[in-house]
Amino acid sequence: MNTIHALSNADLHCHSKVSDGTLEPEALAARAQANGVELWALTDHDEVGGQARAIEAAGRLGLHYLTGCEISVTFAGRVVHIVGLGFDHEDEALVQGLRETRGGRGERARDMAEGLAQVGIKGAYEGALKYVGNPELISRTHFARFLVDAGHCQDVPEVFRRFLTEGKPGFVPHRWARLSDAVRWVTQAGGEAVIAHPGRYDFTPTEEYALITEFMAHGGRGIEVVTGSHTAAEAAKYTETALEFDLLASRGSDFHSPDESHTDLGKLAALSGRLKPVWEALQPRIIAPSH
Ligand code: AMP
Ligand code: MN
Ligand code: MN
Ligand code: MN
Repeated sequence: MNTIHALSNADLHCHSKVSDGTLEPEALAARAQANGVELWALTDHDEVGGQARAIEAAGRLGLHYLTGCEISVTFAGRVVHIVGLGFDHEDEALVQGLRETRGGRGERARDMAEGLAQVGIKGAYEGALKYVGNPELISRTHFARFLVDAGHCQDVPEVFRRFLTEGKPGFVPHRWARLSDAVRWVTQAGGEAVIAHPGRYDFTPTEEYALITEFMAHGGRGIEVVTGSHTAAEAAKYTETALEFDLLASRGSDFHSPDESHTDLGKLAALSGRLKPVWEALQPRIIAPSH
């Protein structure tokens, strides 16, 4: 049986409590199923600790599944995210590479709290920790939730604008994984690497060209076209980019939380029929449900 064409509602980007989402992997799987997702991937930041639970829940609920993660990369002095899909989540080099990528987060969080203390926000480290599901993965999102609930800001985007982005008091520059390493960890573990939400980087056309060509030189073959982080105009733009560079196209909500995310799991526009979906190239890696 050819399952590919039955799997048009693919959502290959979201976060659980294992990184900076607010739902457990099982609750995400149930929400994905309720929303009509047929092929799902959990893509926690720098972490595959939720994969076994996601695979089990997907199988139980009748969802097809691809393993996933979203790797933080420093490229040309900026942060770029690379989504990995369909890899062996027990691959040693991948697991070790992600562990190293996560490694500096604790110290960075303490430095962030120091910066916030200097503008009068006390106890942010301890505050943020209360929102953390995985002690190895304290992120800016956890600080943002603390600052909202403590009454410093109205919502999470306001916290980022005022406190957590470059030049703001809680921002601490950080050296993440190399682009070449991130792509290699994923591809050598049998998966495909995908440039996440390219419209979010504010790159000049020259910088974007450098990112795509270097990514491809390292063996990357995919790009997110339809994502909760893109406007319809950006999806149209990156449809043309995917065609121009002959990249495989991906689709994912980037869902984090029912209270924060504008795009729910599976509630996304279709990929253009002119594109090659990344999940077709990953067909042998798709884990079919048990019944
Ligand atoms: P970190 O990996 O700790 O730098 O945190 C990055 C995470 O912060 C992203 O994955 C998003 O979930 C969240 N984020 C980044 N920028 C914003 C923003 N402007 N508004 C809301 N959330 C954001
Ligand atoms: Mn996130
Ligand atoms: Mn991202
Ligand atoms: Mn994401």
